[in-house]
Amino acid sequence: MPTLQRRSWAEPFKIKTVEPLKMTTRREREQFIREAGYNTFLLKSREVYIDLLTDSGTNAMSDYQWAGMMVGDEAYAGSENYYHLEQKVQEYYGYKYLVPTHQGRGAENIISKILIKPGMYVPGNMYFTTTRLHQELAGGTFVDVIVDEAHDSQNEHPFKGNVDLQKFEDLIKRVGANKIAYITIGATVNMAGGQPISMQNLRAVHSLAKKNGIKVVFDATRAMENAYFIKRREKEYEHKSVKEILHEMCSYSDAATMSGKKDLLVNIGGFLALNDSDIFEEARNMVVIYEGLHTYGGLAGRDMEAMARGIEEACQLDHLQARIGQVEYVGNRLIELGIPIVRPIGGHAIFLDAKKFYPQLDQLKFPAQTLAAELYVDSGIRAMERGIVSAGRNKETGDHYFPKLELVRLTFPRRVYTQAHCDVTVESVYEVWNNRSTVNGLTMVYEPKYLRFFQARFEKL
Ligand SMILES: *Cc1c(COP(=O)(O)O)cnc(C)c1O
Repeated sequence: MPTLQRRSWAEPFKIKTVEPLKMTTRREREQFIREAGYNTFLLKSREVYIDLLTDSGTNAMSDYQWAGMMVGDEAYAGSENYYHLEQKVQEYYGYKYLVPTHQGRGAENIISKILIKPGMYVPGNMYFTTTRLHQELAGGTFVDVIVDEAHDSQNEHPFKGNVDLQKFEDLIKRVGANKIAYITIGATVNMAGGQPISMQNLRAVHSLAKKNGIKVVFDATRAMENAYFIKRREKEYEHKSVKEILHEMCSYSDAATMSGKKDLLVNIGGFLALNDSDIFEEARNMVVIYEGLHTYGGLAGRDMEAMARGIEEACQLDHLQARIGQVEYVGNRLIELGIPIVRPIGGHAIFLDAKKFYPQLDQLKFPAQTLAAELYVDSGIRAMERGIVSAGRNKETGDHYFPKLELVRLTFPRRVYTQAHCDVTVESVYEVWNNRSTVNGLTMVYEPKYLRFFQARFEKL
């Protein structure tokens, strides 16, 4: 009798409603990707088998959340669901006041307009696209104060989302604390590959900020997933619940912007949460202009209910273990197969190193764009380019930026795919890896002026 080497793991849910996947042939996929200009953003969803483009708003809701949709109170003012959401935000995140918004960027717009005066600086632990844009539109200048390790794809630092306190302090000395609108702190930093920030660092940032009278605005979009990393990697938090950790994380900030489309297991929704009653009054006033009345902020009552219920579910250890464990599972299998990925494995995605796949291609043959297209043709899996196409051009010189990292992102929606889908994904990446020497790259034939990666078109070389 063979002995049992290990006990298997399974997803902590069973399936009640299914959405059939579209199966396509290789020949069809070759045609679809050619018609899409070798850009995965231009594929139709119906042409995709496993969709790993993004984890934003692509999550599967539970029966408990769907049941909540049926008790949506669609009153214009004072919806029951608003009060339920407010109660859950207070209970889990610990802020006093809630302003709902249609998604994260709605909250970013409001807080940026209130706190930033033209000419002010806004430091942060690496930027997020919409966050930085709203800060700039309000007249602010973003300054990256993340640790250097975050910029190195092979550095195994457990908290690559940390703020470099020296960089923050240098900025305070250079421009003066009264020129700093606030510091934005992101959790499980998206642009650094889903890398967490430690509690110790959060505490230190808060204390340095307070000493200088600077506000801390927390981007709590992925804070629960970050709390899970703190539990696993920071010794003194090993026995604390994710809820307790989340509470402490938020206690080191004055306000939070939130996209519910990530952590909170919904398809749409977000909020601004605050402790200061004056800023709250202003935000509550402003939300009426941009989003909707302060008790719905651009959301239907049912959406607020699904998000309130999502808060409870997203904070459960079983869920977070499965969610982050799934990404880890794929990452570890790829590492075992010798496939080059960004380390350590982040919370929401795997990043394939396209330069190492295709050393024969210089960056102007778009290695990552090519790799995403090859992966699609092999199996119908949709990934996203994060390399020279995403980086765009320098506004002054008109030259391409040549980023150090040329990556393809495989992003996992929450509770959507099973371990078998993960295996198919790993096998397809392996197939593409094995055929890497036969690939000749792409040439760009259409280039839009703004955020070109969304709509650029390519042809095969
Ligand atoms: C998605 C995201 C946002 C923006 O939220 P939207 O809901 O897309 O507007 C802000 N910050 C982070 C870290 C995000 O991942």
